Amino acid sequence: MRWIVLNTEKSYARYLDQQDVLKKFRNEFYIPNNTIYFDGNSLGLMSRRAEQAVDNAMQSWKEYAINGWTEGEEPWYYLSEKLGALTAPLIGAKAEEVVITGSTTTNLHQLTASFFNPKNNKTKIIADELNFPSDIYALKSQLKLKGLNPDKHLVQVKSSDGNTFTTQEIIDQMSDDIALIVLPGVLYRSGQILDMKTLTNEAHKRGILIGFDLCHSIGSVPHHMSDWGVDFAFWCTYKHLNAGPGSVAGLYVNKRHFGNEPGLAGWFSSSKEKQFDMEHTLTPAADAGAYQIGTPHLLSAAPLLGSLEMFQEASIEQIRKKSLQLTQYLMELVEAELTDYDLKIANPTEDTERGGHVFLVHPEAARICKALKADGVVPDFRTPNGIRLAPVALYNTFEEVWTTVDILKTILKEERYKKYENKRGVIA
Ligand SMILES: *Cc1c(COP(=O)(O)O)cnc(C)c1O
Repeated sequence: MRWIVLNTEKSYARYLDQQDVLKKFRNEFYIPNNTIYFDGNSLGLMSRRAEQAVDNAMQSWKEYAINGWTEGEEPWYYLSEKLGALTAPLIGAKAEEVVITGSTTTNLHQLTASFFNPKNNKTKIIADELNFPSDIYALKSQLKLKGLNPDKHLVQVKSSDGNTFTTQEIIDQMSDDIALIVLPGVLYRSGQILDMKTLTNEAHKRGILIGFDLCHSIGSVPHHMSDWGVDFAFWCTYKHLNAGPGSVAGLYVNKRHFGNEPGLAGWFSSSKEKQFDMEHTLTPAADAGAYQIGTPHLLSAAPLLGSLEMFQEASIEQIRKKSLQLTQYLMELVEAELTDYDLKIANPTEDTERGGHVFLVHPEAARICKALKADGVVPDFRTPNGIRLAPVALYNTFEEVWTTVDILKTILKEERYKKYENKRGVIA
């Protein structure tokens, strides 16, 4: 859906910023000096509220010591569940279906250990060939733990264009021998949103359980996990949720699965009332809390308390609306100004299929990213030829989008990227 008639003047970008209903949130963030930060889908920026929430957690520790578990403003014993309840609206789940715990990868291990029960001929897992490696490594090791050969039992859906999938390509793999499906909600390179509703429906028709990795969609795209009946999901909180490097991740389990033992148990899997009875027989929590393992990482969970407040105030619907406008504006400027330079838009362009970032491909992408950084724009290089640009609704502006395209044009026109090696850094 087109909402603007393109005007390539900088004054138009400023006009769009004036109209922006979320513009006040930018002041809540620490924006690095002289920087256009378009990498919030790798590591979101720090906000004053996140900082304050960590200070508060430190203060509780200082003041209450052991009593901080049950006293103070945010008693630690209940914080993971409270943060889960605050996150639930972002994914369209019930409060008790969500808990903040672990990391993306450890949560995938936990959920696969819990939901992958190979039986009779149903012994395979579907994933996709474009997913982030950590997810694939986790699934392969879970197969091995069940004595199954990943070469035979992990089915990775192939992409015909190397960047995206059609829903049908995925459905075609849902054969009788599939027990479980794990896919991203939004693909980390191309930013494609998968049709989670249809995929869930089709999986369930065939008696297959399905879960989604929401790392790139949470905080950027609305979801309806409960309504769609998705079995489980997991995500990190340091990308669009801005909770800081290594912040505690999250998971969702549909309530129809409540009451089961988690695949990987620990004393925090326990019902809160029973936990300190110290019995050797686990009584699992009656909700998603059962999928926790050990003591929560309080200081890495704290920033999320501050950060989630802003999502509540802004609403995920408004965030999505602005995000779509920013990425559309970026794509239209790229089409108008940059297509002479071998630069191609490789993300889906439709609103229904486009996540929170734009994915450009160019044979010299690694060097172009270095040139952008030298000029104060922080993009994200994805090997071998991809440039991700994520204008984030809570803190980026239309003017920053305009300026980035202007800088990119100079870099391409003057071939300024040739000063740099076409090779990625250790972290890219
Ligand atoms: C960012 C990301 C991860 C990272 O996993 P961690 O356990 O947080 O290091 C995993 N999967 C996907 C799809 C990601 O985008």
